[in-house]
Amino acid sequence: MVRRFGRELAIGFGAAFLSFLGWRGFNVVPVVLLIGVLALLFHLQLGGAIGKRFRVVNAGGDGLAATSITFDDVGGQEVAKRELLEALEFVKDIDRVKHLGIRPLKGILLTGPPGTGKTLLAKAAASYIDSVFISASGSEFIEMYAGVGAQRVRQLFSKARSMAAAHHKTNAVVFIDEIEVLGGKRGQHSSHLEYDQTLNQLLVEMDGLKIDDDVRVLVIGATNRVDLLDPALLRPGRFDRVVKVDLPDREGRLSILSIHTRGKPLASDVDLNEIARETFGFSGAHLESLANEAAILAMRQGKREIGHQEFKEALEKVMLGEKLDRRPGEAELKRIAYHEIGHAMASEITHPGSVKAVTITPRGNALGYMRQSPGDDKYIYTKGELEDQIMVALAGAVNEELAFGDRSTGARGDYDQAISIAREMVSAGMSSIGIVSPKDIPQKVFHEAIKEIISGQETRARQVLSCLCPVADRLSRMLLEQEKLSGDQLRAILAPALGSTLQKCVGE
Ligand code: ATP
Repeated sequence: MVRRFGRELAIGFGAAFLSFLGWRGFNVVPVVLLIGVLALLFHLQLGGAIGKRFRVVNAGGDGLAATSITFDDVGGQEVAKRELLEALEFVKDIDRVKHLGIRPLKGILLTGPPGTGKTLLAKAAASYIDSVFISASGSEFIEMYAGVGAQRVRQLFSKARSMAAAHHKTNAVVFIDEIEVLGGKRGQHSSHLEYDQTLNQLLVEMDGLKIDDDVRVLVIGATNRVDLLDPALLRPGRFDRVVKVDLPDREGRLSILSIHTRGKPLASDVDLNEIARETFGFSGAHLESLANEAAILAMRQGKREIGHQEFKEALEKVMLGEKLDRRPGEAELKRIAYHEIGHAMASEITHPGSVKAVTITPRGNALGYMRQSPGDDKYIYTKGELEDQIMVALAGAVNEELAFGDRSTGARGDYDQAISIAREMVSAGMSSIGIVSPKDIPQKVFHEAIKEIISGQETRARQVLSCLCPVADRLSRMLLEQEKLSGDQLRAILAPALGSTLQKCVGE
């Protein structure tokens, strides 16, 4: 307050003095210009760059700009929550910690893929220990001006302390998202002096945190690239606890869906359990978006409740993107239909009952797509399962070739997928070259092993699909007429042909 008042007084006196000089006949224009340039430089170097505002939130429940996010608002992540709660007991039970002479907990690092709830957990932690919460992102510290990043780190910590004091709190949580940007291994950046100074300042601040401080600061960092962090950050006494925040399992997804459908009117046909089963690989952020999109769709259709159909549609939107108005010409549509039917037939051959839907409605980057019904959550795959996946990926292009005599560029993404699975197989010792260290074998050998797997599955797809050309014709015609076929519609036509016809043909 006094500082601001002083600055305004100085500006006032300065302006009055310049007016006086002008009135006495002095040419004040150069002086005004000089002051303008100096003020601009000051703003860029200090005011604009250093004085960047950090997001400050009071996470306590006293009604002051409160976010009041608690651990109940975080779905799944039971292990992460348990570890975090255990660590936070050291901050809560400070008397016992002091009594036993335990070193204070200074930092907790949350690691995991984007959108899994790291920020949410940090806010819940702040709420749990009744502290203010101030957050910044690693990239906010990096500037081209030397020393600015370090200055910002100092400012962040002092702001956390002053905010806590202002709200009569004894704890402050400093949350640094994307901490790998400012805490990357030292000496590796082109402008490494600036990066190193910033990281050094963070280490200095963390080392300076004491148990007897008026405001005890807890630093929570979040990253999805823990491998990039400087080892100094991870040593005991700094980020003491590393908590893994992974993609949620089925139970976790159900709990996140329940949180994000709280207060939303759901129709009786909505089965959150089934949605949780179908969303393997989704993060919390995806699930939040799914619930939100379903509600938007219900609103667009003038419904008062969100039904199963809206969730189904929202699922495809979150997976593949918005439906597009773009409509390919007749010839292209026909090709897309054969392509998608190729994928669908291969999927049914390898895993009967696996196709959920197949469509030629363009969405996101896809001109058409086949959606498989998910089984249980899977974390490991056998060689046979991976080969089947490659076969299904290649079957679209193979079916195009069987129907039209050539392939199209529409299969690019499928090839990328097939190659990445084959690469995984070689690295996992599932190829003809046996168990190898991928980085120690010549590229050519690696490439040949991938090629062998791919061409084996390509031959398999061709062999099977060439036996089913009449069925593929019929299904593609149906798809062109109806734009979308359900798994059941597809199976009604395909299943009779799969038994003896296929066996006889493939066996010949
Ligand atoms: P990033 O690494 O990209 O910063 P993050 O891991 O910090 O992501 P959050 O910002 O916490 O993720 O999550 C984004 C949004 O996703 C949240 O606001 C919330 O709506 C939803 N969300 C994510 N995970 C969960 C969860 N476990 N429970 C409930 N909601 C979640």
